[in-house]
Amino acid sequence: MQNQTNENVAEYFGCNVFNDVVMRERLPKYAYKAVVKTKQFGTALSPDVADVVANAMKDWAVEKGATHYTHWFQPMTGVTAEKHDAFISPAPHGRIILEFSGKELIKGEPDASSFPSGGLRATFEARGYTAWDPTSDAFIKDDSLYIPTAFCSYTGEILDKKTPLLRSMEVVSEQALRILRLFGNTKATRVVTTVGPEQEYFLVDKKYYDQREDLIITGRTLFGAKPPKGQELEDHYFGNIKQRVSDFMKDLDKELWKLGIYAKTKHNEVAPAQHELAPVFTTSNIAADHNQLMMELMKKIALKHGLVCLLHEKPFAGINGSGKHNNWSMSSNDGQNLLDPGDTPQENMQFLTFLCAIIKAVHEYAPLLRLSAASAGNDHRLGANEAPPAVVSMFIGSELEEVIEALENGKKYVSSTAEFDIGVDALPNFKKDTTDRNRTSPFAFTGNKFEFRMLGSADSISCTNTILNTIIAEELCQFADELEKADNFDKALKNLLVKTIKEHKQIIFNGNGYADEWLEEAKRRGLPNLVSTVDAIPLYTSPEYVSVFEKFKVYTKVEIESRTEILLENYAKVINIEALTMLDMAKKQIIPAAVKITKNICDAALSKKELGIDNAFEIGYASKLSALTSSISDAVKSLDEKVIAAQGIEDTEAEAKFCRSDVFVAMQSLRALVDELEMNVSADEWPFPSYTDLLFTV
Ligand code: ADP
Ligand code: MG
Repeated sequence: MQNQTNENVAEYFGCNVFNDVVMRERLPKYAYKAVVKTKQFGTALSPDVADVVANAMKDWAVEKGATHYTHWFQPMTGVTAEKHDAFISPAPHGRIILEFSGKELIKGEPDASSFPSGGLRATFEARGYTAWDPTSDAFIKDDSLYIPTAFCSYTGEILDKKTPLLRSMEVVSEQALRILRLFGNTKATRVVTTVGPEQEYFLVDKKYYDQREDLIITGRTLFGAKPPKGQELEDHYFGNIKQRVSDFMKDLDKELWKLGIYAKTKHNEVAPAQHELAPVFTTSNIAADHNQLMMELMKKIALKHGLVCLLHEKPFAGINGSGKHNNWSMSSNDGQNLLDPGDTPQENMQFLTFLCAIIKAVHEYAPLLRLSAASAGNDHRLGANEAPPAVVSMFIGSELEEVIEALENGKKYVSSTAEFDIGVDALPNFKKDTTDRNRTSPFAFTGNKFEFRMLGSADSISCTNTILNTIIAEELCQFADELEKADNFDKALKNLLVKTIKEHKQIIFNGNGYADEWLEEAKRRGLPNLVSTVDAIPLYTSPEYVSVFEKFKVYTKVEIESRTEILLENYAKVINIEALTMLDMAKKQIIPAAVKITKNICDAALSKKELGIDNAFEIGYASKLSALTSSISDAVKSLDEKVIAAQGIEDTEAEAKFCRSDVFVAMQSLRALVDELEMNVSADEWPFPSYTDLLFTV
């Protein structure tokens, strides 16, 4: 029985993907070869080959029941976009034929005017192009053939998250190869960056979700008194999985597997009702596509089980929010993980070179990494003792730190097993698992990869990886420039690494990132603490960052400015929507409920009085509620005013900053009062489900 199930998975894995196996089977040899070349080197397909590929794709898709195709892309909204066209074409006698041409495969022309462009494109120049990304396989979902594409404007500016990621992968590959050549590697022709994003999420019962306007509109609870039990017992993390959740997870795995997504690890997370799914890592670009699909399917499949999947970074106050850990590494196509310390001295030295480049990159470009994880939702997490602090630092583990220290000081490295001179000829054998776990570091070395832990659960991983790849390409480029011209490679390398360590070791911190002392220490070290989105995003356009993006043609200055504008605008919009939702709930649900509840208590007081029973308690209770309600009404009024004031601000950055300093603060004041009210009235009379309903009933 067991075996049969296993066989099944192997059989249906990837069955909805137009992958290499299908292409090999269905394409004539010359066309297959051309596609492989396109995938590897980005060479354009000739029009007739494109026609052959398109036709094979269509036949395969139609056999699987597909009726439509869509260019699937990732605009700056953070979610994916799609527009479906049927394969049908009219034929004589009222009949149809099914058609799909190479031209339709390669290029689409969606109207781009309604996607965020940050001022890049006026609405009258509405044309946008989608271009097939052959490195990410087409797939079938809901009877449509999905073609992963990049999205740009008529004038060539990029409007999406995929194009810069692809560009950044190219540049880091180029620069990493230069380093590999210096270490005598002549075989590798390509270096790919790999990512395994761990995805956290919450599941709540749909019947309760449907009664909460805040969840429906904003994805998070804007009100909600703390439940008597939160996560303090730590009984949920890795706890046994409830049947309903387990059924959901099974369904989800199955659908993901059909799409060729390596869903691998699932477990309960720290907070009640919180879970995690991690796939096996893959190429960054595909990991980004797969993560989008994963988030989408989580939401869809949850509904089938009467559940709602919350991907918001902070659906509930007072308990952990959800993140997305971006596990990142680089590997060469001759089969090496470049961040694996390896077993031989030669590999070690190469590893130390990459490690030093990464240390330098993270130190010099910390604000960029920080802003890649900045959003209104994630502001609730970073620095809140559940996610890493808003200060970017790096954890490399005690053994590596000792190695680096020895290297810096020209000393012998003494490990528990032996001592070594740090130099190209004699180096320690690192034991992979000696890096102890540090859960509080934003950027942690975990044996053969780095784990960037700042991302929020709803984020696309593209921006982070675009930045990561570009800044590391820059450091590798600087290293290669220096080393390529050296007469004595060993000596030059040693000098370079020692210098790098001396100048950048302040970014390394192996202690507890959640401790207040760390913030003090970080300040002394000159590491920026960009507390919120509005502190981080404006730095995007700093000249030193613009120049590195321009140098590698990942973004132009104009493209960065537009992205900055979009991110700030998005922040202001989110806060505005949340504030309006709060006002709506307060005015239409909370205050009326409070008045009604108070009236009931007053009625009770009157009845008691009539009967000659002491009614001091009811009078006190009603007075307390009445005072609280009146404070709520005042808080509503001041939030109302702040919202209007924010809407009146023209400049996007100024508006976003005001949203943080004023609107958000007014929202918190209103919430505190409402939560206090909720704790003081009967659950039956409260106008929407409580935290207990939401967190403990699935
Ligand atoms: P943990 O929760 O202990 O950090 P998980 O198993 O949940 O670990 O997630 C680890 C993630 O790291 C997985 O997605 C895994 O595939 C990924 N990973 C492992 N090796 C690499 C690598 N070389 N490059 C990128 N990601 C990797
Ligand atoms: Mg995990």
